[in-house]
This record gives sequence, C-alpha cells and structure tokens, in this order.
Amino acid sequence: MEKKIKVFIGGILMEVNSFNPVLATKETFRTWLEGSELESMRGTSLELGGVYARLDQEADVEIVPGFFAQACTSGPLDDRDFQEMAAQLFESLRAAGAVDGVLLVMHGALQSTAVDDCEGFLLEGVREIVGEDLPVCTSLDFHAMFTEKMVRLLTSASGYQTYPHVDHYETGYRTAEQLMHILRTGVRPYKIYHEIPMIMSCENSNTIDSPMAPIMHRTQVLLAQPGVVGGSVFLTQPWLDVPELNCSICIFAEDEEQRDSFDQEAAGILNEIWEKREQFYPPMPQIQEALERCRTMPKPICLVDYGDVPNAGGSGDGTAVLQALLEANLDISSAVVIADRESTEQAVHIGAGGHGTFSIGGFGKCGEFNQRISVDAEVLRLNPEPFVHLGPAMKGFISRPGMRALLRVGNIYIILCENVCISHDQAMLRTMGLDPAELGIISMRATHSFMSCYADVMGSWLYVDTPGYSTRNLKTLPFRKCRRPIYPLDESCGDQ
Ligand SMILES: [Zn+2]
Repeated sequence: MEKKIKVFIGGILMEVNSFNPVLATKETFRTWLEGSELESMRGTSLELGGVYARLDQEADVEIVPGFFAQACTSGPLDDRDFQEMAAQLFESLRAAGAVDGVLLVMHGALQSTAVDDCEGFLLEGVREIVGEDLPVCTSLDFHAMFTEKMVRLLTSASGYQTYPHVDHYETGYRTAEQLMHILRTGVRPYKIYHEIPMIMSCENSNTIDSPMAPIMHRTQVLLAQPGVVGGSVFLTQPWLDVPELNCSICIFAEDEEQRDSFDQEAAGILNEIWEKREQFYPPMPQIQEALERCRTMPKPICLVDYGDVPNAGGSGDGTAVLQALLEANLDISSAVVIADRESTEQAVHIGAGGHGTFSIGGFGKCGEFNQRISVDAEVLRLNPEPFVHLGPAMKGFISRPGMRALLRVGNIYIILCENVCISHDQAMLRTMGLDPAELGIISMRATHSFMSCYADVMGSWLYVDTPGYSTRNLKTLPFRKCRRPIYPLDESCGDQ
C-alpha cells in the first residue's frame, strides 16, 4: 500500500487587547475541539474549513487532527490556562506520532499574563517535538504580531488579505496549499523580513477604500510572483503592548535569483506604509458632533463606538453613546447593544411587556466610558438563544450572548446581553425582532466587519471617537513594554 503523507492540524487562535483588565481563561474559548471533533470544521467558511477543503483533494494525505481552540478578543490570557492549553496542543502532536508536516491555525496577537509572544512559544514547543527541518506552516490574522522568533521557526505562513476579514477560508486554503507545495517539492523557502516602528490604526486601514487598499494590492502582486511560496503583511492590532510591536512583511520564497528583487519590493511595500503613516489616523468626531451630523446623513447610519469594540478587546459595556443619545433627544430611532448581566437579569425578572428603572452599563471594571446610566425602560422582548452570523464577515459563526433583553426608551432600543458579545452582524438585531432597515442609527461595536454585514441596508457610516479599551487615542493608553520610539506614540519617531 502507498505510504500516506501525514499532516497534523491544530492551533490556538485568540487576539489579546493588553489594556483590557479582564483576563481571559480557558472558559473564554467558545471553540474547543480535540481530535476527530476538528472534522466539524469541514464545510465551514473558517480557516480549518479551507484547510480541510485543500488537504481533502490529496488522496495520499492523511489528516491528523490534534487540539484546536478559538476565542474572541479579550484581555490577556491567564498564563496557567495558556500553559495548560499549550501542553494539550503539544500532547496531541506527540500522540500523532511521526508526521510529515504541521499546519497550525493561529491569530498572531495572543499574549498571556507571562508570555508576550504566545505563537512563538507554541512554535518553539512544536519544533522541540518535530525537529528543526519538518515543514511547519501557519495561518494568521492581518493583525498578527509577526515576531522574529516566528520568522525563524516557521517554514511558511499566510495572513488574511482582507480587512474587514472575509477570507478566513481562503487563508486556511492558501496555508494548506503552501504546505502541500513544500511537502511535494521538498523545498525549504528562504525568508525575507522587514519591519517598521509603527502602530497601525484600525480605523483607516481597511482593504476596501483606505490607504491600505493599494498597499494590499501591491502585496498580493508580490505574493503571486512565481518563486514566492507564501507570506503577507502583518500589521499588528494597535492595542497590544509587547516589546517587538511593529508593522512587518514576511515573504517565504524559493527562487534564489529573484531574492534581491523580492527583498526590494517587500521593503518598498513597508516603506509605502511608513510614507503614508499620517493618513492612517484621520480626524474623528466626538459623539456630540457625530450625532449632529447624523441628522442629515442617509439612514440607517452605522455609528461606530470606536473606543469599545469587543473584537478589538473592548469590554462591550460602554455607555458613552447611549448617554449621548439620551441627551440629544433626536427624532431618529436608534439601537445600541450593551453587555450588562445584572440589568439583563432584572429584565428577565420584570418580563416582556413590563417597565422598570434600570442602571445600565459597567459590566466589567467601571471607568469613564462605562458608567452606569439610570433609565426608565419598557422590556419588549427576551431571547436566551445563541444566534448564527449572517455574514459575510464570520458567516456561520455562532454568537453566544447568553440571555438578551430588548428595552425601549422613547425611540432608543437597547439590547442588553448577559455576556460580552460582538455585535457587527445583522443577526444581533434581527433575532431580537428589530429590522435594521427601519432604524435611523445603529450603534456599532465593530471596527470594520459591519461594513460587509450591513452593506445591503446601510445608508452611511460614521466613526466616533469614544473612550474605552480600544480607544483610538493611543497616547492615553499605558504602554509599558513596547519598543520606543514608535509612531504615533512618539513625536521623535518621524524618521526611520
Ligand atoms: Zn484582525
């Protein structure tokens, strides 16, 4: 019988916001799969869906599923739990026996309370088991912090090429494609790595119409060159406080004759980011000015509560927008989503159709941005069910907000959630009986993913400079570990 090529798959995928004081634990990981349970990812639009789709095309490949866990963005991961999860991943790899290749699915911005470069730590552990030469490839987020340790330990890697991220599947597929190429040819790609001392904004780096769009196009042209195996630009999300914080590009290539030209182009791509650095930080209005603008903007308006975005590590309990809406007394209907377990329980106690005085907000640690607000509200609806994202961003993902309660104060609808929950998908509103098309303002706790999810109903969108753990005002955050100087924290960082 023909010998099978054995490919181990697994990983730990989570993004950390270093400034959110609420630590993540094992319980934060809503996806927790061991061994054959990973096969439930077949047919999904996530990375592992793409990995399976590509590897399943190979008759002589045997997929050995190990351990895989995924969580939404949170504060740093408790290191005891991280070590336990890392050990579980390593144990599943050891149990796989002799394998020919390893494919990991990771984010790239996981930080524990003791380890700043968790992906590097995981790759180190994998290398100890499989040796220095075995092909090890990983898929990563556009916002990965691609460290020099990762460059050294990886055989190849691939990152999302879209922001908002809609190519999870394609990125998994590409990573598996690279691994198959490496396994079939025996090539060991050389690596080109460049980085700049810059914190990239999330507010103006989408791949649709921001200054990043042509840069991503240029990157894709480079990645498509014959002789290039893999790689990407890795911009790091801005709320990660780690020593190597940067924007980087890493290219894995096999054509030695092209090495200099690939190197020059990779450096040129990063230089273009550097040259445009100020354009990634355009002016953004405060909430009062934003609500004034909303009066005349095409409806519905997706109003981005930029400082408190859960998938950027915000706590999802900020009340700055609700407070301003109550004060502005607009003749436009609006909806806000707020994580608040106590008020949700109170709504359940009151029941649909009842009225009560609620003290909303401050789910996590109370600060300037999530002060509790007292409102007299009617309870319209209760819903304990998880919901499935309609997409396109994260289509099929199951959100588990726990119990939700829909309240109404005048023309303001408030969706209370028992758990912190991402809210960029229309399903959040629709499953509570709200039709987004009939609303004037939809307060959005998302940086970009709402753009694709609301494209069919949205009249316009507006970013608001609100406070919170994902604030755009990076200078107000207590960066302690990251290299200095770095743009835009330090004025002196004008020249490379
Ligand atoms: Zn990202």
